[in-house]
Parts: sequence; structure tokens; C-alpha cells
Amino acid sequence: MVSAAREGFVAELRARGIHDERVLDAMSKVPRERFLDATFARRAYEDSALPIGEGQTISQPFAVAYQTQVLDLKPGEKVLEIGTGSGYQAAVLAQMGVRVFTIERHIPLLETARKRLDSLGYHKVISRAGDGTRGWPEYAPFDAILVTAGAPDVPESLAKQLSPNGGRMVIPIGDMGRQRMYLIRKNGEELKAKELIDFAFVPLIGKEGWAA
Ligand code: SAH
Repeated sequence: MVSAAREGFVAELRARGIHDERVLDAMSKVPRERFLDATFARRAYEDSALPIGEGQTISQPFAVAYQTQVLDLKPGEKVLEIGTGSGYQAAVLAQMGVRVFTIERHIPLLETARKRLDSLGYHKVISRAGDGTRGWPEYAPFDAILVTAGAPDVPESLAKQLSPNGGRMVIPIGDMGRQRMYLIRKNGEELKAKELIDFAFVPLIGKEGWAA
């Protein structure tokens, strides 16, 4: 039942322009229903953001696929995710064989996400509670940074912690309700930004984000 629903969902992502087979394969394997409360689990394979508590949401599957695809990840790369939320995006990344570091500001969400990741066997995901706008200097530089909340601008700490050898950051930038996705590439000290399509994420709250 569920795996049939997941196949339809992957076909829908493909129809909407997701073509990276590594992303589609990972999303066909990660059980999204396991990252939701029982009330919402039956809607796991709809293309919608759903509540996860603390006023936050699990990202819409298309947004997860889109952000992951634009990073063009290779197995073994180091990826920092800002906004663990349900843990679903972290599981998709782990399923792709990248090294995942993830930060969440709401402790109860982080605790639930950790339990889910562990119970599904994603034991290598490294996570912490805190303000992700400051990044995670102990583990920098990162080959890729994936920001899953809407920012007013690129946090300087994150730009600093991106690898100077082709590091990529995907980040929604705009106001609190609507943002445009940006792909930022770093070579040496140079940052180049590419404007992509619009999304609606929950706000990135922190020292280098929106005020709490
Ligand atoms: N990637 C998540 C999406 C969750 S929504 C998933 O797959 O479910 C974005 C999350 O970012 C929310 O849980 C929110 O609490 C968190 N967040 C917002 N600002 C943050 C910050 N400065 N540092 C860490 N997490 C933050």
C-alpha cells in the first residue's frame, strides 16, 4: 500500500522536473509517513507541507526534491542542513550516501527527529540543537549547505563555512511568507548566486536570520 503510494509520488516528482535519479531513488526509499504524527501519516504522499508541532512544518516533497537536486550531491560529501524539523530531509540526504550534519532550534522537534532517524537505521546523521544561522564551525568546511527555512539574506557564517572548492548552498531568501530559492556557489573567496523559483518556507529565526 504505502510503497505503491510512494511510487506514484516519485512519478509525480519526475513529471514536475525532478530528474536526478539519486534524489528520486532516495525519495522512493525513505518512508515519509514515519516522519509524521499518526493524524497526518495518511497524507504523507500528498505534495503538501504538514504540521509537525512547534508551529513548524515538514517541507513539501517537491521542495525537498528540488533543494536536494540543485545541490548535485556526490556520495561522501559533507552536507549541513539548517532546520532538522521532522528529520525527513536529513533521511533523504543520508539515504543518498552523503555525510549529514543538521541543526534544529526547537529541542522537542530535534529529539523526535533523532528517534525517527535512529529507528530507521540512519545512525550516521550528526545533529544538534541551536541556532543554525551560525553554522557548525567545528565541522566546516561543508561541500553543501541546505537551508530549509526562509531567510532575509545569506547568513555570513554559512557563506564562510562553505567549501572554497565548489561549495554549494541552497537557500530560500525573501520575506516571512514567500521566498525565492537561490543556489550559491563558492570558488576561492568568490560567491556566485543563481536565482531559481519561488517557494513558501517557515522563517529562519536566529542571530543571522529573522528576530525571534
Ligand atoms: N527540513 C525539515 C523542514 C522543517 S521546517 C524537514 O524535513 O522536516 C524548518 C525548520 O527550521 C523548523 O523546524 C524550524 O524550527 C527550523 N529553524 C528555523 N530557524 C532555525 C535556525 N536558526 N536554526 C535551526 N533551525 C531553525
